[in-house]
Amino acid sequence: MAGADGRLVVAVPSKGRMAQTSLELLEAAGLTFELGARSLHVPCSNAPVELLLVRPHDIPEYVQDGVVDAGITGANLIAETGSQVETLLELGFGRCTLEAAVPEESTLQSVADLDGLRVATAYPVTTKSALDQAGVTAELVLLSGSVEAAPRLGLSDAVVDLVSTGSTAAANGLRRIGTLLESQAVLIGSKLDLGERAEMLERLEMMLRGVIAARGRRYLMMNAPADKVAELEALLPSMGAPSVVELADKGQLALHAAVAEEEIWDLLPKLKAAGASSILVMHLERVVP
Ligand code: AMP
Repeated sequence: MAGADGRLVVAVPSKGRMAQTSLELLEAAGLTFELGARSLHVPCSNAPVELLLVRPHDIPEYVQDGVVDAGITGANLIAETGSQVETLLELGFGRCTLEAAVPEESTLQSVADLDGLRVATAYPVTTKSALDQAGVTAELVLLSGSVEAAPRLGLSDAVVDLVSTGSTAAANGLRRIGTLLESQAVLIGSKLDLGERAEMLERLEMMLRGVIAARGRRYLMMNAPADKVAELEALLPSMGAPSVVELADKGQLALHAAVAEEEIWDLLPKLKAAGASSILVMHLERVVP
């Protein structure tokens, strides 16, 4: 069981698309650790936290059963395993969709057309639940990998598999006909009483939230003549109000604001036209409201 020595145990994907990004996120959140050559247990040197590197499929059940206190895994795997866990935070990576696909030459056009047919998948629970909801009864063919090959091997009429870029489906001559589920990596926590470790889990969640919030924003700094500040302030969609800072040059003021990354493209020309100069756009490390 987790936490015997008071350390928060966090399960992290050891392989697959989420592995590297998960470790990078934990580092960005301020945890310090060194990966051993083969060790699955990775202690953090600056916090009472231990990482346990395991298969992402196993993580929801480990968290549910109290084998670990918390974990990073795919939202679809929580649904697939039916695990009773607390989803604390969407992490913004590992995005994928569970999609139905058929051979390009097939006449099937939508999920509704799968009624009475054979569907190969490695995700039977979420597939059945989505097909049930669509009023579709299909015969599920369970495979643990290379699902995309099933129609060509004569094992099924269609597949239901995770799609990220779509290149696996395209490379195997499959045409996508419908989305059953959307997923991304999430931080999950145990529903059990974590005692003193609960505070450490709250801290981990806050730190991760801060990194994710910062990733979507940029910090803007600019100088402007004092009489242009009101107009510039109105343009800035800041968190709260922008800061206005005095400069040594008395006629000039500096404005600072954190803005959404996707707004920068439209915003910079407007700021410039409204009198801003020396505009700096900087990365933020954390945003903790
Ligand atoms: P892609 O070619 O990028 O659409 O990726 C499809 C393949 O990667 C399929 O075999 C999926 O099972 C797997 N895959 C895609 N996204 C994920 C994910 N977020 N987590 C785990 N496996 C994934």
